[in-house]
Amino acid sequence: MTVTPDGTPTETAEPTFRSEVTVELVKHTASDSDVLWAARVSTAGEQSLEELSKDPERSKGLINYLMRDRHGSPFEHNSMTFFISAPIFVFREFMRHRVGWSYNEESGRYRELEPVFYVPGESRKLVQQGRPGKYEFVEGTPEQQKLTTRAMEDSYRQAYEAYQEMLAAGVAREVARAVLPVGLYSSMYATCNARSLMHFLGLRTQHELARVPSFPQREIEMVGEQMEAHWAGLMPLTYAAFNANGRVAP
Ligand SMILES: Cc1cc2nc3c(=O)[nH]c(=O)nc-3n(C[C@H](O)[C@H](O)[C@H](O)COP(=O)(O)OP(=O)(O)OC[C@H]3O[C@@H](n4cnc5c(N)ncnc54)[C@H](O)[C@@H]3O)c2cc1C
Repeated sequence: MTVTPDGTPTETAEPTFRSEVTVELVKHTASDSDVLWAARVSTAGEQSLEELSKDPERSKGLINYLMRDRHGSPFEHNSMTFFISAPIFVFREFMRHRVGWSYNEESGRYRELEPVFYVPGESRKLVQQGRPGKYEFVEGTPEQQKLTTRAMEDSYRQAYEAYQEMLAAGVAREVARAVLPVGLYSSMYATCNARSLMHFLGLRTQHELARVPSFPQREIEMVGEQMEAHWAGLMPLTYAAFNANGRVAP
């Protein structure tokens, strides 16, 4: 319950808690033929478009060669736009990827933020063991799981109530939002090409085929896995070559 400046009591929206992230592919022009077309212009010039479907084995071989020898620019002539819903702490990591990415995120200045908050699901390993640079995550005990859920939910409720109290008293959204935690869900459009996506996936997923292992936070990896599944369907030859060459972006 909060009170408006004229003293009217109002109900505060009840927070909801989520454990998953969502990734929707909203727009794309991305196919293996975009890579082949761009690569073949070097040798075939304007003829390259007609050549594309003539010899599938040669096409597969060319994509693999480009990936292996890190000829990266042919992988840039395509575009994928994702709509992503995830906690703010994921976006904070995500936006460190500067090259070949465009972002637009919902605003906490122009609209009131919805009370949707992240709580780890049961499959999220809670306990970190080992030394920095060489640690692993293991299951938490039922008590740790219960504590985490309770502590997070209590803290989210309290923060959102304070936010609502300030808004009801006439404080600007851009000021009041300072009390909201990084577990709050946000949403954004993120547009990339296959080359920038591969660089992202190399760093933000853990994969048995990775030649250079990375140890990303699980929640950004969950976003990466969904983007990877969309991309694999659009560009199967490029995706196979990425895996076959140790998941290193060309
Ligand atoms: C597991 C993990 C842990 C991390 N921990 C931390 C942390 O503790 N603290 C922290 O601050 N960050 C951390 N990061 C973020 C990390 O340092 C990078 O900012 C992030 O991964 C983006 O990578 P990038 O710069 O290669 O990508 P992009 O910004 O997309 O750049 C792509 C490539 O372009 C080139 N490039 C881009 N900008 C420049 C430039 N200014 N000069 C020269 N070359 C450039 C580089 O070759 C770069 O690899 C972590 C990342 C991972 C994956």
